[in-house]
Parts: sequence; structure tokens; C-alpha cells
Amino acid sequence: MKKLFTPDCYIRSFRDLNLKRLCRMGIQVLVCDIDNTLVAHDEALPNEAVKKFIKKAKAEGLRVVLVSNNVKERVDTFAQDLAVKTYPFAQKPLKKTYRKMMKDSGCKAQQIAVLGDQLLTDMLGANRIGFYTILTTPVAQKDLKCTKINRFFENMVFHVLALQGKLHRGEYDEQTM
Ligand SMILES: [Mg+2]
Repeated sequence: MKKLFTPDCYIRSFRDLNLKRLCRMGIQVLVCDIDNTLVAHDEALPNEAVKKFIKKAKAEGLRVVLVSNNVKERVDTFAQDLAVKTYPFAQKPLKKTYRKMMKDSGCKAQQIAVLGDQLLTDMLGANRIGFYTILTTPVAQKDLKCTKINRFFENMVFHVLALQGKLHRGEYDEQTM
């Protein structure tokens, strides 16, 4: 069965992502969710660690793009000094924005990686289209109201995946190779 929720890679934080490994795997585009992946949802701007991460990813040769289900204003404000392409109001887990990314970048699904904090939106949408999926632990505990509902169901999915031996919360992957 095609996997739906299980990420290809599970990390504690974007800081721990092995960018060189992604490049070796043939990844060309790194798609980053914003809220609770890079910063808490109430942080309007990227902090120094985020700026450094995006700079490093670009230096490795990755094209970084930002994706969010949040509104354009939030995404534009966040991205204003980052010089990256943005996809606001993405309606994850629907495939349409992910399809647009493939078209815009000219890349195949297997050349695109998605970094996100939610199983039900980031991982589900990206798995369905065949992108490489990277799950990170949320930056903060607090969520937007709509995300709170997602988290309730996400906890159930985490529970099932743990029973199946596919994913255990807090047991991060070694990013070797
Ligand atoms: Mg998020």
C-alpha cells in the first residue's frame, strides 16, 4: 500500500536537516512549511536560525520555496527578505499547489522534498504526489484554531503508526548515507 502519513525522514528540527544528503539524493527543490516548521505561528518574521538555514540550503544548491495554508499577507511578510518563491493558501493536503511547484520548477516529484510539521497536511499531500517527505517536531506547542483540530486527529494517526511500528514520536531518524 502506498504510504499516506508516514514521512520518509523524521527530524527534531530544521536545524538538524542534512542538506548535503538531500543533494546527494538528487533533491533540487526544498519546500518548507512556515508555521511551526520554521517558526511559531505568531512569529511574523524569520529568526536568525531560519535565515541561516535558508542561506545554507541555497549555498548547497537547493532551491528553497515556502508553502503555507496561511494567508498571503502572513507569507509575504515572512518571506520579504528571504528571496524565495512562496505558495500561500496552499490548501494542503490537496495536490494542486504541489503540482504547481513541479510545473514552476520543471522538476519531477522525486526531485522535490517537503519539510513540514503536520502529518495530515504536509506529509499526506506530499506523500500522495510522491515528494520526499521530512517531518519535524512542531516549533511550539501552540497552534492556530484550525490546526488544533488537525492535531487531535494527528494524535490518533501517530498512535496507529506507532502500533504498526512505522513511526514513533520523538524517535528521530539518523540521516546517514
Ligand atoms: Mg505547519
